[in-house]
Amino acid sequence: MEEMFITNDDQRAILETVRRFSEEVVAPVAAGLDAEKDPLNTFSWDIVEKAHDAGIRTMTLDEKWGGLGVDCLTAAMVVEELGKVDLGISVVMAQTLKIAQIMQRALNPEQQARIMPQIAEDKRCVLAIAMTEPNHASDYIVPFPKPMKTFAEKTKGGWIVNGMKHFISNGPRSRYYLLFVQTDRSKPQTEGTSCFVIERDHPGFTIGRYHDKMGERLANNAELIFQDCFIPDENLVGEVNKAYKLIVEFFPMSNAYAAASILGVAGALYKKSVEWCQIRNQGGKLLIEHDGIRAQLSEMRMMIDVARSYTHRSCWLSDHRDQGWDSTLAVYPKVFASQIAWKIAGWTLELHGGYGYMKETGVEKLVRDAAAFLHSDGVNRTLLLKAANLLYK
Ligand SMILES: Cc1cc2nc3c(=O)[nH]c(=O)nc-3n(C[C@H](O)[C@H](O)[C@H](O)COP(=O)(O)OP(=O)(O)OC[C@H]3O[C@@H](n4cnc5c(N)ncnc54)[C@H](O)[C@@H]3O)c2cc1C
Repeated sequence: MEEMFITNDDQRAILETVRRFSEEVVAPVAAGLDAEKDPLNTFSWDIVEKAHDAGIRTMTLDEKWGGLGVDCLTAAMVVEELGKVDLGISVVMAQTLKIAQIMQRALNPEQQARIMPQIAEDKRCVLAIAMTEPNHASDYIVPFPKPMKTFAEKTKGGWIVNGMKHFISNGPRSRYYLLFVQTDRSKPQTEGTSCFVIERDHPGFTIGRYHDKMGERLANNAELIFQDCFIPDENLVGEVNKAYKLIVEFFPMSNAYAAASILGVAGALYKKSVEWCQIRNQGGKLLIEHDGIRAQLSEMRMMIDVARSYTHRSCWLSDHRDQGWDSTLAVYPKVFASQIAWKIAGWTLELHGGYGYMKETGVEKLVRDAAAFLHSDGVNRTLLLKAANLLYK
């Protein structure tokens, strides 16, 4: 924990709680849940409830809703700490912490009064955000002048939604969703989409297929299906056709939390590498006594530190945007952190020799997890292109 950019005692106490929770609640069951074949069985309500009891699930809620009101920097440290023990749990909580923050900023007072107390009190309340569709994915990140397929048609007192979303993290487990749909088909997604808040079990809204993922298995992802689903006007978030503006305004920290989650995995890989090199003896000495190997471990540590500093800067500035926020900070830290995690995963496999390939060392799970954020929260290539367009177009 000493490597975190801790600036006060509250953060230290919070991180100590999260570390204890990770070790006592998550670590003993993570490998077993990960090994379950059916994604329906890889999720644990027990972990979510214990995260609630430890004050983690509600940490970003304002004090008036019963939370701690932690800032983005602290939340990112929490998410990284969770990611050191299991990426899936880190993502379940990161989505919930992040969307709770967004809701507190983007929902109107009536919506907040209706929804925030439920989020605070329901021990099992996790949250989700639904944008991606099978054929409309990166096109929302690098805007392409084509409407989304999921469409909300205006009717008396509300909207009738038809369509589907997929890949949605926490999709089959959430209580509330921020749903992005096309509300004007004559306009591209950037100008014709609106955001709605919708509760689980809303008539016309069902969960489709659970996705069977390669890694990050303790988090569930699924399809969300909307069939003549009536959503009342009261559930519109912000203005009609202005959902894209909401993202720019209220989601700057989103990718930084993804960076923090995957940095947890990078840290776990690094730790395994160091420990292995301290006990494995080849060439007449411990691996760590070989200069080239020691230098490689040092490079891993440096890459993690750099990615973390970048992530922390992005988080802090997303809370203090008048102090020098620049839009590339909503993109680059996740790209960099996921790239170095993937690189460190390869090096860790190599340092373990054949042992790394055997499931018993636990490297294999981390390698599968390390791939998760090359694509989630935007494919890295499309995020780089998005930043390039901001910089050069
Ligand atoms: C584990 C996981 C969790 C996720 N969770 C959520 C969630 O909670 N909510 C949600 O809404 N979405 C979620 N997603 C979707 C995610 O955010 C990505 O946007 C999505 O995976 C990318 O879409 P795609 O897979 O269809 O790739 P595509 O968009 O088909 O991209 C395929 C390839 O083409 C490249 N490409 C695409 N467009 C361009 C372009 N204009 N120029 C150059 N190259 C391009 C991409 O970089 C990529 O390499 C999740 C995805 C994963 C894998």
